[in-house]
Amino acid sequence: MRIDLHVHSTASDGTDSPAELMKLGVGAGLSVMALTDHDTVAGWAEAAAAVPEGLTLVPGIEVSARWLGAAPGIGLHLLAYLPDPDDPALAAALERVRDNRAGRAQRMVDLLRAGGIDVTWDEVLADAAGAPVGRPHVAQALIRRGLVGTVSEAFAPQWLGQRFRLPKDDIEVFEALRLIRGAGGVPVFAHPLAHKRGRVVPDRVIAEMAEAGLAGLEADHPDHGPAERARARDLAAANGMFVTGSSDFHGTNKPTGLAVETTTRASYERILEMATGARPVTLGGPGAAPPERT
Ligand code: AMP
Ligand code: FE
Ligand code: FE
Ligand code: ZN
Repeated sequence: MRIDLHVHSTASDGTDSPAELMKLGVGAGLSVMALTDHDTVAGWAEAAAAVPEGLTLVPGIEVSARWLGAAPGIGLHLLAYLPDPDDPALAAALERVRDNRAGRAQRMVDLLRAGGIDVTWDEVLADAAGAPVGRPHVAQALIRRGLVGTVSEAFAPQWLGQRFRLPKDDIEVFEALRLIRGAGGVPVFAHPLAHKRGRVVPDRVIAEMAEAGLAGLEADHPDHGPAERARARDLAAANGMFVTGSSDFHGTNKPTGLAVETTTRASYERILEMATGARPVTLGGPGAAPPERT
């Protein structure tokens, strides 16, 4: 069975609606797909209502976190599988991150305008359409101006990669782990060694995160080369964690295809065993058992 546990919809910075993703998942031969939008559960209901025959939906969140042991802090992403979406502490923390994303994106637009680039906050907001605003939404405005050709180009250092980038006020990483576990979710460190995205946290921090409840490392990710994948496996084994593999699909906002990386059934079962917040969704509705072993 093919399992992809990291996928974005229009509820954050992907380009396919949650319902469209469910269809794409079947088309890509998946039997399990997690919906992991940035800092929101807004896509869960639409995805759950559109789950097709043969596909299991794992509701998740990609939580924006930060390690403050370096100055400035290092941003990192925690995939939270099957948390209780109504847990008040987690919901409140995510709402703060979303509010902060909006203020930060607005300041990035101000910075662009001060640099003579005539993008507007209104068009960025319209593009996000209620989703937590991220740099891919700002990138769309740059594409419309003909300043860059693709979202990936907009992440070059002279654009949103560095010059016009502002930090987000993310959740402190050990607080994020407490919140996710407190909501019955299973935390997995997304693309933990992806150097090309920026600084990564030292190995000892990954060990401390494991002590604090981190359950797995996303070893197979498009931003990891063979060396990072091997090291993630070693780190996971050394710290009693499992590894996952996932596409981090963002529709046309990124070149990566759905299901290009996959997770083993054994790791998926570890997630199911640990999760107490929400249940996977099948056509029979939430709470149904995982598919029969084949
Ligand atoms: P933000 O959350 O606003 O900091 O923006 C980061 C998001 O932009 C990530 O979640 C990715 O979806 C996307 N992203 C990061 N780097 C790239 C890139 N090189 N090309 C396209 N999208 C990217
Ligand atoms: Fe994203
Ligand atoms: Fe990420
Ligand atoms: Zn992601």
